[in-house]
Amino acid sequence: MTKIIDGKATSAAIKAEIARETAGIVAAGHAAPHLVAILVGHDGGSETYVANKVKACEVCGFRSTLIRMEDSVSQEELLAEVSRLNADDSVDGFIVQLPLPRHINEQAVVEAIDPSKDVDGFHPVNVGRQAIGLPCFHSATPMGIVELLKRNGIETSGKHVVIVGRSNIVGKPLAAMMMQKAEGANATVTVCHSATPNIAQITRTADILVAALGRPGFITADMVADGAVIVDVGTTRVPDSTRPKGFRLSGDVDFETVAPKCSAITPVPGGVGPMTIVSLMINTLAAAKRRRGI
Ligand code: NAP
Repeated sequence: MTKIIDGKATSAAIKAEIARETAGIVAAGHAAPHLVAILVGHDGGSETYVANKVKACEVCGFRSTLIRMEDSVSQEELLAEVSRLNADDSVDGFIVQLPLPRHINEQAVVEAIDPSKDVDGFHPVNVGRQAIGLPCFHSATPMGIVELLKRNGIETSGKHVVIVGRSNIVGKPLAAMMMQKAEGANATVTVCHSATPNIAQITRTADILVAALGRPGFITADMVADGAVIVDVGTTRVPDSTRPKGFRLSGDVDFETVAPKCSAITPVPGGVGPMTIVSLMINTLAAAKRRRGI
């Protein structure tokens, strides 16, 4: 029988562990970990992600602050806010919710964040440290995937992990993590992208197949080996008039046909998404502990 890998339950268990540890930190007289999120504009997806992050902070016992800026904010104003947060001792970690409006250079903003407060793990210092297996803030989605597999008893050592998608926030950092000589990793990794010919031939050789391309239903049953483990990162909003919000979230895997063929699969929603948010909580707790010398 196919196992449905429950990201919601796994993330709830991790949040409970974090909340317990946070209560101990506060009881010892320290300030609660403090996460700040900067949200520019009013994009529906970004609003939801940030609201969920704030909610997760509450569950974990963290302090959270949401800083809203209008779409019209200049790059200089945003960079000034980043500098202020870098210097603010009460802030353990902060994120700038992406994407940013077109007139702002995202990379310049990411690189302005102090790497020791970069709990999204996007700064090149953290990305570079991750690549060579040094302690760092891992980027949230790949970190969540690694943790999800580990906690659900899915062996990665010696397995062939095929990742479809090479973005800087999912595909590339996940490949770097999965190839480390470390627990929850130690895999042989292949990364496919839009210039890869015969993707199906490659995906059929995967013990663990990660779909992270943002193309609903791209991975079909003929692209998957019997018994493979499938991780669906895709979250595309597809118009659906039967839903209260007028859309549903669609993964990159054709769940109906693929699920019966594989040994385990993550659903969308309720798979990778909740793990991404909990990774941010893990990074924030780590930042807070380091800053308090715990
Ligand atoms: P992205 O930056 O758009 O990158 C997509 C990647 O997929 C690119 O490397 C692209 O190749 C590749 N690709 C696109 N079409 C392809 C095709 N037909 N065949 C092979 N490769 C193809 O996307 P992303 O930010 O990584 O996000 C991917 C998906 O994951 C989206 O649905 C996003 O919403 C979702 N996501 C979910 C979470 C979560 O927490 N659940 C977190 C992050 C992202 P090229 O490089 O050649 O262009």
